[in-house]
Amino acid sequence: MPEITNWMAQLVKEHPDVVSILNYGQTYENRNISLLKIGLNTGEKKKAVWMDCGIHAREWIAPAFCQYFVAQILQTYKIDPKMEEMMKNIDFYVTPVLNMDGYIHSWKNSSTRLWRKNMSPGPSGCDCYGTDLNRNFDANWGSIGVSYNCCSSIFCGHKAVSEPETQAVTDFVGRQKDDFLCFLTIHSYGQLLLLPYGHPNFTASNYDELMKVGLAAAQEIWKAHGKNYTVGTSPNVLYPNSGSSRDWARLQGIPFSYTFELRDNGTFGFELPEDQIQPTCEEAYRGALYIITYVHDKTFNGAVATAAATLWTMLLATGVTSSITLM
Ligand SMILES: [Zn+2]
Repeated sequence: MPEITNWMAQLVKEHPDVVSILNYGQTYENRNISLLKIGLNTGEKKKAVWMDCGIHAREWIAPAFCQYFVAQILQTYKIDPKMEEMMKNIDFYVTPVLNMDGYIHSWKNSSTRLWRKNMSPGPSGCDCYGTDLNRNFDANWGSIGVSYNCCSSIFCGHKAVSEPETQAVTDFVGRQKDDFLCFLTIHSYGQLLLLPYGHPNFTASNYDELMKVGLAAAQEIWKAHGKNYTVGTSPNVLYPNSGSSRDWARLQGIPFSYTFELRDNGTFGFELPEDQIQPTCEEAYRGALYIITYVHDKTFNGAVATAAATLWTMLLATGVTSSITLM
């Protein structure tokens, strides 16, 4: 965690006009929860993309991916006009490690390596500690795929948004929810792209488009190293659940909300070998970039097309079109 924190500070030094750090809450153990805001300043009102990693402590490949993602977009925008265009229209809000307390705990020793939850104490009378942050959001909270036993690894908390880490995301994203085009939350493992909702009784209004975009993203992932990622709702391809950040984001009206479950399929599980970090990041980057490009183009190229259509109507009205050749 200190290495990641130093790296974040270094990025701001190296790219002061493009990268800034925002602290948007504190963990139970009073650590600042911080994100990297990345984008080109145009003076215009911009849209936004959300990405968080490390909400579950033991899923170490996730924080690695957030770092890879940030490094990639910062390397490419100067040489790739498409990335430059997206950096002008969109601010990327990337939280490399959301559950910092749990993440540090999972690094302590082999007996805590598989810790999943945060580090807040359980309700009085319970000797266990920690709440599953991805069961604690205000989205059909406590209804399915959770435990009320504070010793369980999927303990959902004593009420929705009881945890400071959940509260931080809820406040920050909630304040500017109309700006966010997509919400990507990164986990492992299972090689899945999960879309809302976790409760089998509810279907997202844009389910078909979420599936279409998800399947195309999985195809991009496959192109990198031939790994198959399965796409679908949590109850259809994994298990039903409630209180996830993905579902909460979709309920807020953020149209494209996905959970990435990175490698592997269970051979090593959460303890993914070091030599798989790089290829896992490479393939997931292609998938994430597909989704982000799609939502960008849907918003901004749609606007260009509308402007062109308006201009065309004006030209028609003035008769100028007679000398224009349609291409
Ligand atoms: Zn997870």
